Amino acid sequence: MTSESTTRVVVVGGGFGGLNAARALAKAPVKVTVVDRKNFHTFQPLLYQVATAGLSPGEIAAPIRSIFRPYKNVEVLMSEVTGFDLDRRMVRTVDNALPYDYLIVAAGATHSYFGQDEWEPLAPGLKTIEDALEIRRRVLLAFELAERQAAAGEAETPLNFVVVGGGPTGVELAGTLAEIARHALAHEFRSIDPARTHIVLLEGGPRVLPTYSEDLSRSAEEQLRHLGVEVHTSTMVTQIDPGAVHFAGTRLPATVVLWAAGVAASSLGKKLGAPTDRAGRVLVQPDLSVAGHPEVFVIGDLAALKDEQGRMLPGVAPVAIQEGRFVAKVIRDAVQMKRIKPSRPAFHYWDKGSLATIGRAAAVAQFGKIHISGFMAWLSWLFVHIFFLIGFRNRLLVFIQWAWSYVTYERGARLITGSTYLPGWNASTQTAPAESPRQEIPAGTRK
Ligand SMILES: Cc1cc2nc3c(=O)[nH]c(=O)nc-3n(C[C@H](O)[C@H](O)[C@H](O)COP(=O)(O)OP(=O)(O)OC[C@H]3O[C@@H](n4cnc5c(N)ncnc54)[C@H](O)[C@@H]3O)c2cc1C
Repeated sequence: MTSESTTRVVVVGGGFGGLNAARALAKAPVKVTVVDRKNFHTFQPLLYQVATAGLSPGEIAAPIRSIFRPYKNVEVLMSEVTGFDLDRRMVRTVDNALPYDYLIVAAGATHSYFGQDEWEPLAPGLKTIEDALEIRRRVLLAFELAERQAAAGEAETPLNFVVVGGGPTGVELAGTLAEIARHALAHEFRSIDPARTHIVLLEGGPRVLPTYSEDLSRSAEEQLRHLGVEVHTSTMVTQIDPGAVHFAGTRLPATVVLWAAGVAASSLGKKLGAPTDRAGRVLVQPDLSVAGHPEVFVIGDLAALKDEQGRMLPGVAPVAIQEGRFVAKVIRDAVQMKRIKPSRPAFHYWDKGSLATIGRAAAVAQFGKIHISGFMAWLSWLFVHIFFLIGFRNRLLVFIQWAWSYVTYERGARLITGSTYLPGWNASTQTAPAESPRQEIPAGTRK
């Protein structure tokens, strides 16, 4: 155990930012408490693989407690943080209050429905393991219900899957759904043809992957079309009903609608009492601390900080990881009295490049001026993601799963668990609504 005088560091969140901060403090003369409402760390970049039945939850998650087993000065508490008392230096949780000398808040982000929260049950987003399992349930269930309906001799329901949002998550979901429909499920149904599933990707802006260069956006769109995805850019969704999506004056019947359009910072940001931006991210100082509280840091998706060129740092794992390590060093230096003066360096993000996957052998990669598309980009994506997965066991398992599914096209985690209800599908008769034939999309909005 640690002595009374040991500096206490509380880390809120065991995601990329929190884990890396706590790890970097593991050998420092401090007592670290990591608080997370979950008992596991989620490797979010592979959530879409769980949502599309390629991987199982345990392969992309790791118990936070076991990650810190070797670090005796780190304790893990599974609890929900509800607020802060910055004057008394306390973190409030649903159970009690935790005192701190330094606080690192790394509570991440969630979905934003731009004020249309009633769309959430109709169009789930992808942020947690639970979200991924719900998406997997809906996608697989749609094929089963359609098969049952067709086997009963009723008119075949056109299977339309709509993904809203053309950022990296929307693109990888749409591409992988197209692959499932055309390959993984082919030859397994007797009354329907899964290959006739329509995958529609709707993006409000003028191009998919807007944070990538224009040539890579174009390439991503081509690769999506090649996989059979219908892409609509500059297209805003105006309404989502059970079983339908409205856009550009059109009502498109949709068996499954997925939301990948908006991100909002954790509500804990506002509870710090510091200024926030429109997405609820805390406007931090250059050293990632909160104005007026040099002992409180906010990192990762919850922090808003611009780089030297005045561009907002993106909400990606490498930013959260580097920020976590940076604040840990600031705390270590302060505790070890390396810095006599309280002046601190500013955080500098080292951008090593961006990768977005689209589907089997389809991806884009941007490393500074080097832009790659297709198989080589996909290979880079594959190895980077295996390398950064937590735990040797998960790396090995994911590598084997991907190698197997590359050769066989199989997706091994095709389990439907929980409810057999699908929004818009007639629950009593288990058939699609009678008025669900697809209305033509006006020519002007087709690409
Ligand atoms: C589907 C998806 C795909 C992505 N793909 C990529 C990618 O390919 N490459 C990339 O670089 N980035 C990707 N990202 C973004 C990346 O995952 C995030 O930038 C990163 O996770 C941010 O780290 P963080 O530590 O700020 O937050 P998170 O990793 O989200 O961690 C936040 C933690 O805080 C906990 N928490 C939240 N609120 C509370 C509370 N009140 N009390 C206690 N605990 C709480 C949560 O349980 C969670 O463990 C993706 C994100 C998603 C959702």
